[in-house]
Amino acid sequence: MSSDQIIIVGAGLGGLAAAVRLAAQGRRVTLIEKNERVGGKLNLVTAQGYTFDTGPSLLTMPWVLEELFAAAGRRLSDYLQLDQIEPTCRYQWPDGTHFHAWQRLPQFVQEVERLSPADVAGLFRFLAHTAQIYDAVADNFLLRPFDGIRDLLTPRLLRDGPRIDALRSVDRAVRSFFRSPYLRQLFNRYATYNGSSPYLSPATFNVIAYIELVEGGWYVRGGMYQLAHALQRLLEELGVELRLNTSVASILSERGAVHGVRLEHGETITARQVIVNADPRYAYTTLLPEQQRRAARLARLEPSCSGFVLFLGIDTSYPQLAHHNIFFSSDYQAEFTAIFQKGVPAADPTIYVAATCVSDHDHAPPGHMNLFVLVNAPALGPRVCWPREAEAYADRVITRLEQHGLHHLSQHIVYRQIWTPAEIAARYNAADGAIYGLSSNHPFSAFMRPPLRAPELRNLYFVGGGTHPGGGIPLVLLSGRAVAERVSADYR
Ligand SMILES: Cc1cc2nc3c(=O)[nH]c(=O)nc-3n(C[C@H](O)[C@H](O)[C@H](O)COP(=O)(O)OP(=O)(O)OC[C@H]3O[C@@H](n4cnc5c(N)ncnc54)[C@H](O)[C@@H]3O)c2cc1C
Repeated sequence: MSSDQIIIVGAGLGGLAAAVRLAAQGRRVTLIEKNERVGGKLNLVTAQGYTFDTGPSLLTMPWVLEELFAAAGRRLSDYLQLDQIEPTCRYQWPDGTHFHAWQRLPQFVQEVERLSPADVAGLFRFLAHTAQIYDAVADNFLLRPFDGIRDLLTPRLLRDGPRIDALRSVDRAVRSFFRSPYLRQLFNRYATYNGSSPYLSPATFNVIAYIELVEGGWYVRGGMYQLAHALQRLLEELGVELRLNTSVASILSERGAVHGVRLEHGETITARQVIVNADPRYAYTTLLPEQQRRAARLARLEPSCSGFVLFLGIDTSYPQLAHHNIFFSSDYQAEFTAIFQKGVPAADPTIYVAATCVSDHDHAPPGHMNLFVLVNAPALGPRVCWPREAEAYADRVITRLEQHGLHHLSQHIVYRQIWTPAEIAARYNAADGAIYGLSSNHPFSAFMRPPLRAPELRNLYFVGGGTHPGGGIPLVLLSGRAVAERVSADYR
C-alpha cells in the first residue's frame, strides 16, 4: 500500500464526504464499512413492496451538498433531484388543532395568524433574532469548526458571543417570542433535530428553526437513500476503494502515531492517515484499547437521545397524512424529563410519521402506505430492557396514532418492524444508541465533543456526528469538509 494511503473507518455520510473530498484531491482512499451498504444511519429497508428510509427524512442546508459535489468537479443536479415538499410538516395536537408549516413564508405567516394572530409580530422578531444567531454561528462554529478552545478566542467570537443567546434555554427564548402554547411546542421541537431537550439546550439552537424556515426543508426524490447511492457513485468515479461487510477491529499505532488498522478477520492494512467515522465514544472504547482514559472521560458525558422506530406497511390510505407529520403529546416537558432525567421512554410521546409514498408513489403498493414512525427515546441505560418492552411500546405508539385520527391503524398493518435504541446501537456501533453523538443539553456541550484531530495520536482523525460541528446531515457533511482540510494540511 502506498505511503499516501488514507483509511476511513465507516461509510456514514461523514466518511463518504471526507472520502469524496480527499479522493478529488488525488489521495488514495480506502473506505471500510461493516454493513452491507454505505450511508450509515441514512439507510434503507425494503419489504413486501414497501420502501422505507430508516434514518434522516428531511434535508436542510442543501448548498452544503452542492458544494461537496462541486469540490469533486461535479454538479449535484446530475446525480440527485432535491424537492421542497409542501408543507414541510403537518402538525397536530391531541385536541385536533393542526398547523401546516408551509415552505413559502407568506403562507407560513398566514397559518400563524390563523392559529394565534397575536403571535405574528413575535414570529418576525424571532426570525430577526435567529438571523443574528445564524450570522454569528455560521462562521465561528459551522463553516470553520474549531480544534480547541484557543481557536475560539478570536476577536470575532468575542464580538459575536453575546449574539448567540447561549445563556438561556431554547424554551425560555421561544416563550419570549410566542404566546400560543401550540406555537411554543412547535418551535421547541427544533431542539430535537440534534437529539437534545428544548428545556435544557441553549437558545442558540433556535437557529435550526431559522434555517428550516428561511432556507427550506428538502427531500431527495426517490427516497433519502438516493443520497447515499449518489455519493457511492461519485466515490466509484473518483477511484475510492470501498470494502463493504468489513469490520475494523482495532486501529494500529506505534510511538504516538497511527499507521493502519486491523480488520476483524485478522488482515492488517497500513495507512499514512486514518479517519474514523464510527462514533468516537465507541472508537475509543473498542478500536483504541490503549486510550481508555479518554474513553472513560467520554463515557461520563451525556449522549443525545436515541430513537424508537416503527416501519409500518399498511393496506389502506389516510388522506390526512402529509409527507411529514408530527402528532404532539399533551405534555412536552414531561417527555423530555422522562427521556433525559429518568432514562425511560415517554408514556405519551410526540410521534413523527413520514409517509414518503405521498411524494414517491412507488414506495408502497397502490392504495397502501409506508409509515416510518419515530419517537424520541432515551439512550441505552439501566432503566429500560428493550427486548422485553419493545412490542408493548410499539402497541402504545400505534394506539396513540389511532387516537390522533388514524382510525383502526392496528388492523391495517401488514408489515411491521421495530428498531429500538439497542438495534440502532448494534447496527451502526452507535454508543448508547445515541443518534447524534453527545447531547447539546448544556451551553458548553460543543466544547466537550472529541475534536476532529485526535489529541492523543498523530495521523488519527474523526469525522461525523460524534465530532464537530455535530449531528444531522448538513453538519456531518461539513465535518467531512473540515477533516479533509486538516488531513491535507498535515500531509503536506
Ligand atoms: C431515526 C433517525 C432519524 C434521523 N433524522 C434526521 C433528519 O431528518 N435530518 C437530519 O439531518 N439528520 C437526521 N438524522 C441524523 C443523521 O442520520 C446522522 O446525523 C448522520 O447520518 C450521521 O452520519 P455520520 O457520518 O456521523 O455516520 P453514521 O451514520 O453514524 O455512520 C457511521 C458508520 O460507521 C460504520 N462503522 C462503525 N463501526 C465500524 C467498524 N468497526 N468498522 C467498519 N465500519 C464501522 C457504521 O456501520 C456506520 O455505517 C437521523 C438519524 C436517525 C437514526
